[in-house]
Amino acid sequence: VLISSASSSSSSKSVCVFAAHPDDEVLGCGGTIAKHVERGDIVNVIIFAEGIFSRSNPSSEDPPSSVAVEKLDMLRKSAVAANQILGVHNLQFLSFPDNRMDSIDRLDIIKAVELYVEEHKPDRIYTHHSSDLNVDHRRLHESVVTATRPIPNSIKPSILSFEVASSTEWQSPTIGHAFQPNFFSDISSTLEKKTAALGEYLCEMRDWPHARSVQAVQHQAHYRGSQIGTNSAEAFVLLRHIE
Ligand SMILES: [Zn+2]
Repeated sequence: VLISSASSSSSSKSVCVFAAHPDDEVLGCGGTIAKHVERGDIVNVIIFAEGIFSRSNPSSEDPPSSVAVEKLDMLRKSAVAANQILGVHNLQFLSFPDNRMDSIDRLDIIKAVELYVEEHKPDRIYTHHSSDLNVDHRRLHESVVTATRPIPNSIKPSILSFEVASSTEWQSPTIGHAFQPNFFSDISSTLEKKTAALGEYLCEMRDWPHARSVQAVQHQAHYRGSQIGTNSAEAFVLLRHIE
């Protein structure tokens, strides 16, 4: 879906956000996306999984039920509206099975990432953290790292992992690496846009004090901000930066 027409200049950067589910892009880096757009960068958001269970069996060839199709359609409309608020230029939906990305061939996910890296030639990529509780998040993280191996003559974007409320902090502390941010984006000026974008995803949000409530996400932004002495921030782990 082409949401807003790009007005790129020679100084504008290309940004790709690889998110597993509709809403992860806003939860993880919505304020930072809005900042990129304000700076004149071109932002492409690619959402890999459907966000709802549309098929009882992911390998089945049966078409999804009409109720599932309707829900999918509504969720995609929410995603378009949310990304419009952030000013995202391109929003693309893939149809990997929800919460079952470990059931499909890893190579298929890697190839999809490679395709979009080739198309958008990103200077910077935002994606999931390696140790999230959600399996789709972990699979997508691994696939992005594999697809962007810095081989000669390849596109070598900076890669940043974001945190997703109700997944990153819910993982067992003895599995993988805890999210320990070393890169922050001051979103004091764009937290309002992030909150408004989350408002388009109300079907995905829960009531306070659930970790994925609007209030919890605002608290998280203020907490991350306080770590760097600003009103609000989004926190990331920088995986690689070449210059
Ligand atoms: Zn997710």
